[in-house]
Amino acid sequence: MVTLLETIFVTIIGVVGFTLGIIVYTKAPLKKANQIFFVFTLCVIVWILSASFSEIPEDLKISLILSKVTYFGVLLAATFLFYFSFYFPKEIILKTGLKFFTGGVTFIFSLLTLFSNSVIKGVIPQPWGFDLDFGNMYSLFLIYCILLVIVAFRNFLKNLRISSHLEKLQLRYLFLGIIIFVAASIIVNVIVRAIVGSDIYYRFGNYSAIFLVIFTAFAILKYHLFEIRVILTEILVGAMGIVLFLLPFLMPSLNLKTLTFLVFLLFLIFGYYLIKATHEETKRREEAERLTVQERVLRDEAERIAIQERALRQRSEKLVREFERLDRAKTQFLLATQHHLRTPLSIMKNYASMLLEGTYGKLGEIVKHPLSGIYVSIERLIKVVNEFLDVAQLQLDKGVLKKAKTDMINYLKKEIIEELLPSAKEKGLYLKLEPSKEKIPEIMIDQTKMKTAIYNVVDNGLKYTQKGGVTIKLQIVNGKLQIVVKDTGIGIKKEEIAELFEKTFERGKEAEKLYTTGRGIGLYISKNFIEAHQGKIWAESEGEGKGSTFYIELPRT
Ligand code: ADP
Repeated sequence: MVTLLETIFVTIIGVVGFTLGIIVYTKAPLKKANQIFFVFTLCVIVWILSASFSEIPEDLKISLILSKVTYFGVLLAATFLFYFSFYFPKEIILKTGLKFFTGGVTFIFSLLTLFSNSVIKGVIPQPWGFDLDFGNMYSLFLIYCILLVIVAFRNFLKNLRISSHLEKLQLRYLFLGIIIFVAASIIVNVIVRAIVGSDIYYRFGNYSAIFLVIFTAFAILKYHLFEIRVILTEILVGAMGIVLFLLPFLMPSLNLKTLTFLVFLLFLIFGYYLIKATHEETKRREEAERLTVQERVLRDEAERIAIQERALRQRSEKLVREFERLDRAKTQFLLATQHHLRTPLSIMKNYASMLLEGTYGKLGEIVKHPLSGIYVSIERLIKVVNEFLDVAQLQLDKGVLKKAKTDMINYLKKEIIEELLPSAKEKGLYLKLEPSKEKIPEIMIDQTKMKTAIYNVVDNGLKYTQKGGVTIKLQIVNGKLQIVVKDTGIGIKKEEIAELFEKTFERGKEAEKLYTTGRGIGLYISKNFIEAHQGKIWAESEGEGKGSTFYIELPRT
């Protein structure tokens, strides 16, 4: 028999379920998951209410109809749970074939349940009410419903793997609802039934479906932001409210009615503040949760950027390596070409010289003149090739020095003055080494490279001087050795000084007029070789026509 308390209880279940259905639906009426949930909730309510009300009437015919409606509700609830699982929390593909097949089977079972005796045959009167007599299709019906729930469960599990953190929490609520429902059903319908030996309490198993509704609603509404304690408070306040609201109607006297109604009003005020407090709590929690999610998003973003940066760095490193390789190849090519140029040029020069000297017989005066022209041109060409070769060599093995202890005075005399003196004399210029005041120590230098460096500077002095000459001096300044090359030539403009060493092919205006075949490479090479020795080179000049002084500074070790 259904007691008054049970009626109230069932009413509460109905109201709670319906309210949740409406809330979920109105939150996002266009979302498939929310729509399906609403229908699912209605099915569960039909199922629970008809199960309960089937116990009330005296007329067993009505009980039979209501029992059939109950099973109809169960069937629809299972079907919609099945559909729901394809849309929550992520949408996964529900094949049209499967959709219509399930719809069709459910439709047939609905007809069989409602309008035939194949699922539910009849009712058997019992002292407490009745037991159900099942038809021959009942087992199939049951298997079908269980299958739907299993597929739904499998979908949720599948979803769990690909879900975000938030969706996982949602699914956890859903699982909690399912577990409570299934556990309660098993306890009531299997365990209690086995103990009592009849279906007397089977309705209570049905009532537990409300947990499924409640937790699913929480899951959809993302109620995970609450603590379970807060959720329970809300349910309790709601349930108490409904009980207190119904109580006055059930009271026998007016006094009691008034009293209970007053209690209800008091409770409303209390409930209002309680719920308000929980909502504020929710807001705070939501904010905290939002921040956490934001932080996680930012962290993910930072990680992504770091990965990109690493990839870019790797690419740029690769490019640098590639560039270096190409650069080396280019220099190697240049060197090879120049070697091949120098050898035939030297041979030509030798033959020209031997011809001029009369090794192959005496030459007539008419031939001698053009032959000298050829000889001078070849010599100039060799010089050009050597300069280019120096640049290439410089780039190839910048830092590679073959150092040897060197007495600089003798070195300058032998390698520079002796070699350049003839051309100085030819121009009517002097070239001298001024004696040093202090003792000049021996230093470590790469003699070949240093020769090129100093030679260029002294040669320039002679080239850009028309009267007077060039003086070389060695001195120690701040513990370093300085080679000072001073000439009485055309001088250098202030604005040109800085540029002289910086770029190749850079030439002064005056110099171009005086010496047209210069290429502006010499000083660039000198600077690089000197810097390879940890030294410095710079120039000073009072201005045009006032001569120039070049300083080469070298460390003593
Ligand atoms: P090049 O002498 O072949 O032009 P360098 O690199 O040796 O190339 O010199 C670059 C430029 O520096 C010269 O063209 C000239 O303008 C200037 N220069 C170098 N030495 C002197 C000097 N002693 N007096 C005046 N100008 C000079």
